[in-house]
Amino acid sequence: MKLVTFRAAPDGAGRLGVVLDDIVVDVAGRKMQSDFEPVLERQVHHLLNYAEGILHMGQRDLIWIRVSKTAKEAGLKFEHFGKILHAKLLDDFDTIVDKIQVTIYTEQENVDKWHEKALLSYAQRDERMAGLTDDTVDVFYSCSLCQSFAPNHLCVVTPERLGLCGAYNWLDAKASNELNPAGPNQPIEKGTLVDDSLGQWSGVNEFIYEKSNNAVERMSCYSLMTDPMTSCGCFMCIIALMPSCNGVMIVNREFTGMTPSGMKFSTLAGMIGGGVQAPGFMGIGRGYIASRKFLSAEGGLSRVVWMPKELKETMRASLADRAKEMGDPDFLDKIADETIAETEEAVLEFIAANDHPAPAMDSLF
Ligand code: SF4
Repeated sequence: MKLVTFRAAPDGAGRLGVVLDDIVVDVAGRKMQSDFEPVLERQVHHLLNYAEGILHMGQRDLIWIRVSKTAKEAGLKFEHFGKILHAKLLDDFDTIVDKIQVTIYTEQENVDKWHEKALLSYAQRDERMAGLTDDTVDVFYSCSLCQSFAPNHLCVVTPERLGLCGAYNWLDAKASNELNPAGPNQPIEKGTLVDDSLGQWSGVNEFIYEKSNNAVERMSCYSLMTDPMTSCGCFMCIIALMPSCNGVMIVNREFTGMTPSGMKFSTLAGMIGGGVQAPGFMGIGRGYIASRKFLSAEGGLSRVVWMPKELKETMRASLADRAKEMGDPDFLDKIADETIAETEEAVLEFIAANDHPAPAMDSLF
């Protein structure tokens, strides 16, 4: 079995560099199963963050790695990334991993080859979730892997809302718990339903309160404005309120331009990360945008007034299905992007001219 993680960018200068590399981890074990692949892959994030002078952020093929100047001067090399993963994966997963080797590719040709294989694997993992809904399970799963840098943050992973890094869906968290019952992915009994539209359950609230060091009293699975989920720093996308449009914008990590909020992704990420609840702003995994539970408390996909063109186009097929269900098959063309509007005023003008539903919906606050 091969685990692949991509697009790390350490240039050794204490800032983001331009080196793209693939870390390919081959693992073998008599009890190994393909369900364990995402669980072990996500450990790359967790384990590299143990090292002094390395900050690993992100998931799957969207990873930022920062290496401090001190670590570089102390002799940190790519080779040490491999040594850390080799030692810790063997140590922490000795019940399933018998042998392991780590290869780091930096030649473009090899990077592209492995990237293609990884994209296939990600698609297969996501497809396994089809048909599972939040209403048909009694148990959600927590993920506390990012508490190493956001101590009060917990993701609640449900069938219809994957972890905000996009790397863990409900089945992955379940497999992780089976592998390591005392590990970072604990079952959460939903308990009594508190509010269907917000996605609040008594069991989830109790669990969050205890495991967030009593910092978060309540958490909605489906709301941006009322008790939203906290954000660590690994989110694939950020949702941000656009008050004058009575809607929200979504920006993905790959988009480096200015957003209509007047902030780039990196500035927004600095504001909302760290494990605090910030009503009106929230980190999410891409897959959640196409979920039927997406911001159901605020009216769902109909609230989205702006997103980068690339995000809209790559998600077009799944979002189009949701738009049809909303009874508005042309809805995606009513969402502005950077080629249409760069300011909140311009977004408002565009959505007003294109009969976007958001302005006529209940006020967001
Ligand atoms: S972002 Fe959430 S699901 Fe992903 S590793 Fe961190 S805590 Fe886990």
